[in-house]
Amino acid sequence: MYIWCLHCECVYPSKDWRKKGQQYGFCPNCGASEFTDGWNWSKLVKYNGYPKIPEVGKHYPLYPESGEKF
Ligand SMILES: [Zn+2]
Repeated sequence: MYIWCLHCECVYPSKDWRKKGQQYGFCPNCGASEFTDGWNWSKLVKYNGYPKIPEVGKHYPLYPESGEKF
């Protein structure tokens, strides 16, 4: 499972966000809280047609410029 950060718009596997046993963690890139800023990657896949398996650490904007390809 992948989690996307609303703050820096980058995506990381959930294990990179959470320490062992934690229900919610923090963005490995910017430190934003998963509870408030972590979105399930599947949402972005649905909204933007992004690949189901994202490139870890890549910047995926919430609102891609029209015509931008991923
Ligand atoms: Zn972040």
